[in-house]
Amino acid sequence: MSSLRYLALQEMASEGKKVAHYGGKRVTSMFASNVFTGRAMREYLSDEAYKSLMNSAKSGTKIDRKMADQIAAGMKAWAEERGVTHFTHWFQPLTGTTAEKHDSFFTIKSDGTAIEIFDGDALIQQEPDASSFPNGGIRATFEARGYTAWDPSSPAFIMEAGHGKTLCIPTIFIAYNGESLDYKAPLLKSIAALDKAAVDVCHYFDKNVTKVTATLGWEQEYFVVDETLANARPDLVMCGRTLVGHSPAKGQQLEDHYFGSIPDRVYEFMQDFEQESYKLGIPLRTRHNEVAPGQFECAPIFEEVNIAVDHNSLLMDVMNKVAKRHKLKVLLHEKPFAGVNGSGKHNNWSLATDTGVNLLAPGKTPRTNLMFLTFFVNAIKAVHDHADLLRAAIASANNDHRLGANEAPPAIISVYVGKYLTEVLDEIETRVKDKFSEQDEVILKLDIHKQIPELLMDNTDRNRTSPFAFTGNKFEFRAVGSTANCGSPMTVLNTIMAESLKNFKRDVDALIEKGEKKEVALMHVLRDYITKSKNIRFEGDNYSDAWAEEAKKRGLSNFKTTPEALDAFVTESAKKVFFNNGIYTNRELEARHEILLEEYVKKVQIEARILGYIATNHILPAAISYQNVLAENVMKLKELGLGEASYKAQLNLLQVISGHIQKINDNVEAMIEARKRANNTDDMHKRAGLYCNEVKTYFDEIRYHSDKLELVVDDKTWPLPKYRELLYLR
Ligand code: ADP
Ligand code: MG
Repeated sequence: MSSLRYLALQEMASEGKKVAHYGGKRVTSMFASNVFTGRAMREYLSDEAYKSLMNSAKSGTKIDRKMADQIAAGMKAWAEERGVTHFTHWFQPLTGTTAEKHDSFFTIKSDGTAIEIFDGDALIQQEPDASSFPNGGIRATFEARGYTAWDPSSPAFIMEAGHGKTLCIPTIFIAYNGESLDYKAPLLKSIAALDKAAVDVCHYFDKNVTKVTATLGWEQEYFVVDETLANARPDLVMCGRTLVGHSPAKGQQLEDHYFGSIPDRVYEFMQDFEQESYKLGIPLRTRHNEVAPGQFECAPIFEEVNIAVDHNSLLMDVMNKVAKRHKLKVLLHEKPFAGVNGSGKHNNWSLATDTGVNLLAPGKTPRTNLMFLTFFVNAIKAVHDHADLLRAAIASANNDHRLGANEAPPAIISVYVGKYLTEVLDEIETRVKDKFSEQDEVILKLDIHKQIPELLMDNTDRNRTSPFAFTGNKFEFRAVGSTANCGSPMTVLNTIMAESLKNFKRDVDALIEKGEKKEVALMHVLRDYITKSKNIRFEGDNYSDAWAEEAKKRGLSNFKTTPEALDAFVTESAKKVFFNNGIYTNRELEARHEILLEEYVKKVQIEARILGYIATNHILPAAISYQNVLAENVMKLKELGLGEASYKAQLNLLQVISGHIQKINDNVEAMIEARKRANNTDDMHKRAGLYCNEVKTYFDEIRYHSDKLELVVDDKTWPLPKYRELLYLR
């Protein structure tokens, strides 16, 4: 008998090699060639239109209809010269993927003649028939009104798929009444809130600053497997992760994969998707193997957060598409394989001024030191005050498998700052007393700038366990999941930072009004914030049980599952901070909460169905047919008159297999019942809880018995590609 697995293995072996190397091309020669960049704008737009677009991108000024017509015409001319026939509003709904609905430039005029047209209306706003995107009840289906609206701050680009080329207009996705239905609209609002709050605080130090932008550099981890093999596994096809599968004899225990040489097929694939990314202006810089076999990472040069979020979404899409050309499948899932590490997406975040200063880079003079300390301490204070929101921002069914599994940060949010900065903060706390003395200025004269590289050298290896670590000139939020839209954690981070900076300014101004000198006032409020936020700082091993206990004593939250973690979005404090900064109304927050819970339910529900299906239609038949082979064998040996000793082992095996079959059968039935109970619960919060605490508990049971069967059932009969076949791609 040849199982699908065997056919897939044969097909994989005969797979020819696809050549996709750079062939001497320089990255600069292709970079952003498919992007409507400033240079393309100059070439295709009138002076007036160019200025209007630039202004809008920079300061959010409105573009009028006439100007939009001109810009659309310029974009169309640029795109058509590159063979584009269609356009789409490209957006990032809460489904977690990107969405597009293509329209042709082609249309028919009233007199029947065919023309190609793309006007300001089509550029500015579209109404995709979007009633089926998640909306948490905001947009009742009968209204079916969701709009995509052009975001001029992210440049248009041409997406190539096969031989087709489409002009993509980055947009936000909102309901008819302006409520946001995507990841981008709230992100843009948080960028504006942070800009305002940070500029105000910058003015204590430098009046020339007029704009502060958040910057983001993400590090994307992923697995690559053979496509034909992946297609032979319903769990990989439908859920993006394996629901059963025994660990291979060799996993990651030898630690020989990390930074090892990249397998040929994957190397070709990387070069291919890098080139496609460069054309789209995604500034990829780094590639390497990750810890688990079959796992890799890429990272770009950091960019302004809005663009960086778009680029990460785009990259995930490009990777999926390009992989097909190589008969590979990219697994972006947070935990595709049990027993080896999962994947994350570190979000490196900082703040940059339009005067060219990184506000989280230590300064060289007392004045710039004070500015650095101000933003540094405010970031810590923000995380302290709203740790639960950061946790909620990264909560997903997928990420639950990873957080706290001793390979990724725990679900407890804490901040790592390193030994030297801990000393600096302690020093400020103890030294600055009621009156700020001459002596206290010593702190500002500390050579923070020079000290930091040294302390980072001895610390970077040890702080890998921290969910939120200061890494010299930026914070690195490491608990983000690999499939996540970075818009979610970035919106929260920007918002809570804006809130903290606003409070900071209020507190400093109050002291100044009382007659304190500015520096003194700043130091006093900093000291106050350092003291108040001390609990969130942790320098030790985040994986240890001791930390979980210590964190509990400190009163830090430890939400292990998504349904619990998401509740943070609808607390009074969350509503206040989002509302005060103009990010979400209460209704939007409630809707988002509901959408995310529903997404959780759907994910677990699909997994439960697929697991039940695989168990019943793949695993059990394989086990039973092997049982038949054994039973026949026993009967034949008996017929031949051979004694029991000759078939004792077979009988034993038969019993073992029967035991596992029975357990799988019982657990699948119980899981189906649990699912029914959950589905009959209308309250989405309760339903998510039931899926989490009841339905999901059967997953491990079923998997355990299935994996035991994998070890004993004849290899030829086993239907699903095994871990060793999936993970060791050459
Ligand atoms: P690693 O964390 O692996 O040591 P790096 O620290 O060099 O690697 O960079 C990781 C990511 O952080 C890269 O995407 C890089 O561009 C980004 N990064 C560096 N500086 C900043 C910054 N000021 N703001 C945001 N991201 C940054
Ligand atoms: Mg890093």
